[in-house]
Amino acid sequence: MNIILSGPPGSGKGTQAELLTSQLNYAHFSTGNVFRDHITRKTPIGEQAQKYINQGKLVPDDVVLDVAKDFLAHNQKPGIIFDGFPRTIGQAQGLDKVLNEWQNKIDFVIFIELPETEIIKRLTARRTCLTCHAIYNLDFKPPRKPGICDVCGGKLYQRSDDTEPVIKQRFMVYEGQTRALKDYYKKTHHIYEIDGTLGKDQVFQEIVKLIKK
Ligand code: ADP
Ligand code: ZN
Repeated sequence: MNIILSGPPGSGKGTQAELLTSQLNYAHFSTGNVFRDHITRKTPIGEQAQKYINQGKLVPDDVVLDVAKDFLAHNQKPGIIFDGFPRTIGQAQGLDKVLNEWQNKIDFVIFIELPETEIIKRLTARRTCLTCHAIYNLDFKPPRKPGICDVCGGKLYQRSDDTEPVIKQRFMVYEGQTRALKDYYKKTHHIYEIDGTLGKDQVFQEIVKLIKK
């Protein structure tokens, strides 16, 4: 089963994708994580992506689709959680095309909704593990030891794009480009919308209910 988790930055896509992949034997494909890994490893893709990410802009579709095709070609798991991809109509069309070539398809499209004020509050308090990408929040999910990941002992850091001006830009990009995916997928899928202000466990229960139906 292939599931798209969409929604504005900070809506909890990454957290939910991690919960889902820890319970199902699925792959977690986060384009954001892939680009951050490239940036850490200083690859050409990383160098290209960094300029856009630091400005809260989207990485160009052709770069994103190359990364996605590479992932799909190597994936061995029975299902995939797409987190933060696709983000534009061009990416959605590209994804449909490749899945088609593999006789595969998207089964669920889920949007987690969250208002802008809540987004800014959450993202400025977000910290991420450099090593395993586990996500913390200084307000409602602080690590046991400050600055250290509970899961792997890795170092926690604040993403360079989690500052207020960049968060506002990312939200604008979401409203301008990613929200339009609802109309794209409405033609072929039922779109499920979940209230992201619910706690993370409740959002998770909602998602599990949907996919177990
Ligand atoms: P969030 O959903 O919280 O914004 P992500 O980690 O998914 O976080 O994305 C961080 C940044 O990486 C985005 O603002 C964008 O610059 C880039 N990015 C991630 N996924 C994509 C994508 N599918 N298309 C274009 N850019 C992307
Ligand atoms: Zn960790």
